[in-house]
Amino acid sequence: MEIIETVKGAKVFISEKRRSNKTIGFVPTLGFLHKGHQALMEKARQENDIVAVSIFVNPLQFKRKQFEEYPRDLERDKKIIDDMGVDMIFSPSVNEMYPSVDSIGELFKLQLIEPDLVCDDMFVVESNDENELDDFIIAPRDLTNKLDGKYFPWHFDAVATIVHRLFKTIEPDRAYFGEKDFQQLLILREMAKELWLDIEIKGVPTVRDSAGLALSSRNSLLTTDQRHAATIVYTALKKGEEMIKNGEKESETIISKISDVINSEPIVEIDFAGIVCANTLERVRTINGNVILYASYFINGIRLTDNIIVRLN
Ligand code: AMP
Repeated sequence: MEIIETVKGAKVFISEKRRSNKTIGFVPTLGFLHKGHQALMEKARQENDIVAVSIFVNPLQFKRKQFEEYPRDLERDKKIIDDMGVDMIFSPSVNEMYPSVDSIGELFKLQLIEPDLVCDDMFVVESNDENELDDFIIAPRDLTNKLDGKYFPWHFDAVATIVHRLFKTIEPDRAYFGEKDFQQLLILREMAKELWLDIEIKGVPTVRDSAGLALSSRNSLLTTDQRHAATIVYTALKKGEEMIKNGEKESETIISKISDVINSEPIVEIDFAGIVCANTLERVRTINGNVILYASYFINGIRLTDNIIVRLN
């Protein structure tokens, strides 16, 4: 397995593989890997000749404190990735991914600027110069300003920007993302389509622990008791799914039940519980098609999310 830290090095590695007609599967991550990330790698391994995994904690998508506190363990990650039969790890520096920005501090300042080019329903590529790797992406506001983007509207622009830069570097045939972050998956799928990136965006089902808690690097910030309490959210969402499968169509009735179940666990504080359309993320009143049952919640100030996709069609 190769470990590459520069864009140039990654491009050389990939172009060599391309010359021998190999297909490339790509799994972008923030590192501190768990079995959820492994499921993405496994799928990529099954479907491609070459698998590349990136590890990059993207400062642009966090507030400074969150960025600094994000759990990291590169040595452990390298071992996990190697065991998955991956061919290449791309772990660039901040400077490598943001060559036109002088310091991390500047990236945090960029987040405060609401770009002029905001557009409600399309992706905008804001270029600093001729170098494609310096593009900033502004994602459609009707997809970004809700659910996981509620507190930080720039979050998904930052995610789209870094993923776009990683795509330009790796130029994969397929890229793998978790359904756990379905809003991110949907936005990146739209980006690939609208910007004609010719990359197939694949969703992978959420991996959970034995009690049902969706695996997340952020779970490491919880105590054992808090992790145990968090499992009530999956129990509540499963209850909602069961109601839909038994014919209930009124979202309000289902959300009320989901909220009651979550509220039975005193240390879990609901941020938002809702039912949204799986294609548009708009709230659904009467359920007729594919929907996502979504809950975001706080435990001791730490914000977590979970969802279940209910496919009726
Ligand atoms: P992260 O490192 O948190 O950015 O996650 C990298 C990728 O792994 C993203 O596409 C996530 O959606 C995906 N992922 C994170 N947790 C899980 C999980 N429990 N099951 C499946 N995929 C996951």
